[in-house]
Amino acid sequence: MIYPWQQTQWQQISRLISSERLPHALFLQGNQGLGKVEFSLALANALLCQQPLADLHACGHCPSCKLLAVGTHPDLHYLKPVAKKDSKSKKPALSIRIDDIRDLCEILNQTSQFSGYRIAIIEQADQMTLAAANSLLKTLEEPGREVLIILLSARAHRLPVTIRSRCQSVRFSVPDEDLSCRWLAEYIAASETDSSLNEKQLRQLIKQAFGSPLSAFKLISQRDQQQVLAEALTAAVSGKNSLDYAATLAKFNKLNMLEQVLCWVSDLNKLMSCGNESAIINELYRNKLQGMAEKASQKRLFQFYDQLNLNILHSSITLNEQLMWENLLLSWDNL
Ligand SMILES: [Zn+2]
Repeated sequence: MIYPWQQTQWQQISRLISSERLPHALFLQGNQGLGKVEFSLALANALLCQQPLADLHACGHCPSCKLLAVGTHPDLHYLKPVAKKDSKSKKPALSIRIDDIRDLCEILNQTSQFSGYRIAIIEQADQMTLAAANSLLKTLEEPGREVLIILLSARAHRLPVTIRSRCQSVRFSVPDEDLSCRWLAEYIAASETDSSLNEKQLRQLIKQAFGSPLSAFKLISQRDQQQVLAEALTAAVSGKNSLDYAATLAKFNKLNMLEQVLCWVSDLNKLMSCGNESAIINELYRNKLQGMAEKASQKRLFQFYDQLNLNILHSSITLNEQLMWENLLLSWDNL
C-alpha cells in the first residue's frame, strides 16, 4: 500500500524500475508510523507480479500476486527482530541475529523460484547485532542478479555506516498536518474505530505521534495507557504518589511510553521558556503543567531529558522496568 504522503518516494522508485536502474539494496528511513513496511511490501509485490499495471503496481490477480496475498511467495523473505529462542523473560530483548542473516543470505544466493527477483525485507534493521550486520555486508557487496534487499529503520544512525553506504537511501518525512488530519479522519471512518473524535482531538493525536499518521491512529487504541502516563506525570501536583503508577507503566510497551514522555518534556520546556500562552501537545493538562513550570528548574529539566534519552537509547536492553519508571518519576517530581 502506498499512502498519500509516499507519492514522491513511489515515483522515485518507479523511475528507477522503468529505467532498469533499481539498485540491489534500498534503505527506507524515516520516523515510525510513516508506513515504511507497507511501502516495502508494495514495492516487493510490484517487482514479483507477473503482469504489473502501467503505474507499476502489482496486478493482484496473477499466480505471484495470489501467493503474495497469503504471504507464501517463495522469493520474498521477511526478517524482523525476535526474542532468543531460549529466552524465559516475559519481555525479552529483540534482535536480528547472525544466524538469521546467514540463512537469509543463503536463500538469496539460490536461484529464484519464479525466475524473477529474490527480495528480502529487513524490518527494524537497526536491531541487527554487529555480527549480523557484518555478515550481511558480503551479500550487500555481491548480491547476485535480480536480488533486492530492503532495509527499514526509524533510527538510521544506529545502523553501521558500512551498511548504510552500500544502500540507496529513500527518506520518508512527516507529512503536512492538514494531510495527516484528513487521512486520519478517513481512516478512522473506514476502520469503524471510535469516530467521536473531533478535528482538534485528531490534531492533538498527530502532534503526540510526532506527526506520523499511522502512529496517531495507534494512539487511539492506547488511550488508556496515555491516561495512566498522564496521571503518573501529574500525580505530584494532584497530591498523589507518582510511584504508585510505576508497576502499571512497566506493563506497557517501554519505547512507546518513553517517547510519549518526550512530549511532556517538550510541553514543560515551552511553558517555561515561552510563557503560559505557548501551544502545547497535552492541552488537557495545561493547568497542571503550568503549575509545574512555575516551580521547575530548567537545568533539572535538561538533566531529566538526558536521563530519558539514555533510557530510550538503551530501550532494547532488558532491565527492571518498574525500577526504571520509579527513577524517572522521582526525577520528574523533583524538577
Ligand atoms: Zn500480479
